[in-house]
Amino acid sequence: MDVWNGIPLPEPSELTAPFWAACRAGTLAVQHCAACARRIFPPLPACPGCLSRKLSWLPSPGRGVIYSFTVVRRAARPDRPVPYIIATIDLDDGWSMTGNVAAAEPDAVRCGSAVAVRFLVASAEIHLPVFALID
Ligand SMILES: [Zn+2]
Repeated sequence: MDVWNGIPLPEPSELTAPFWAACRAGTLAVQHCAACARRIFPPLPACPGCLSRKLSWLPSPGRGVIYSFTVVRRAARPDRPVPYIIATIDLDDGWSMTGNVAAAEPDAVRCGSAVAVRFLVASAEIHLPVFALID
């Protein structure tokens, strides 16, 4: 397993490869169910709402608000710089994901803060989506 900046990097699978390919292209992507229109994250082989396997990928604008967050001041790995912020983001296009929030000052982060996705180039294959505070 590759590690970047103290972060164990994901190894894309057949299921998650479209997500990581979109990240490399600078787009946040989300699965979409053709049967019930639900957006699905993390990627699954079938819709958790209606069990349809008619899933496709949609680009997301990657903007949303912080639903909840925690500031990690003691990392699980000694090579990961602290503090860092893990948050659940409610995306404006109707889905949620958990990810990191890049903020110079963790005290500036609030529930309800507006964020937009950015991508950190961790390797040739993995461009990590992170969220940054926006006005
Ligand atoms: Zn569905």
